[in-house]
Amino acid sequence: MIMQKLVRLSEHVVYLPPYQETDRPVLAAISGERYTLLMDAGNSSSHAKLWLSQLAEHNIKGDWLVLTHWHWDHVFGLSEMPIPSLCNTETFERIIEMQKLSWEDQAIDERVKEGTEILFCADAMKKELGSDRNIRIKAPDITFSSKMTFNLGGITCIIEHVGGDHSPDSTVLYVPEEKILFLGDCLYANMYAKEWCYTREKVVEMISKLEQYDVEIAILSHGMEPLNKQEYKAFLELLINATDLANRFKGDIKQVTDEMSSMLKRPLNELETETIQFSINGYRQ
Ligand SMILES: [Zn+2]
Repeated sequence: MIMQKLVRLSEHVVYLPPYQETDRPVLAAISGERYTLLMDAGNSSSHAKLWLSQLAEHNIKGDWLVLTHWHWDHVFGLSEMPIPSLCNTETFERIIEMQKLSWEDQAIDERVKEGTEILFCADAMKKELGSDRNIRIKAPDITFSSKMTFNLGGITCIIEHVGGDHSPDSTVLYVPEEKILFLGDCLYANMYAKEWCYTREKVVEMISKLEQYDVEIAILSHGMEPLNKQEYKAFLELLINATDLANRFKGDIKQVTDEMSSMLKRPLNELETETIQFSINGYRQ
């Protein structure tokens, strides 16, 4: 039995940490004096129920739920959520498409073979869902196209569509009073491409939107710990530099690696090496 525990991040923000074994993402709640906004629905009924029971223990009840993007691990728990849900128009369209799919092993395996499902997600899905494959993904209730602000009572939450390589519909949640930014999966690579990738254009466009927010704490939906200001800035810089160098050196991995290493004045770590590889994959596409 998985027992993740709710974590209080600030006076107004709590979250349920991710669980890597079955790819459960962070779920969060932002509470003002009048309303509470929930982020994402979880990757299964049991994930959603665990979150709701943890919230109930802390006397928190959601009023609306916002989805960060359409991927299964963020939306499969939606039917368990007894409140109105919102998402980007593109997220909505993808969910409607997903409603038509079967989630039995054979159907999932076929989609992996034809390249429309990711092996890593298929494995996580089978583990998380067990034999309960009667998945009904509820259509979200409200859609938006770019940006909305929730006045929760003494605290605000801005939701904005930022796109990016991971998923074109990616939306972030920002709490200005506490300088907390929920990134969803937007900083991760495109995993539906033949080779996982970042592309210069999408990175630049996404980061120009993210940079308007003054951030002290940033939460990646699959990151074990929140990022502090420096770590967050470093991640954005890494994406900017890796995609820039991949273009400048026309996908030459040695030149890109050497240049990045000399910029940082040290050998590269695993995240940096991987980001360079994904940026080169993006350049070559
Ligand atoms: Zn995702």
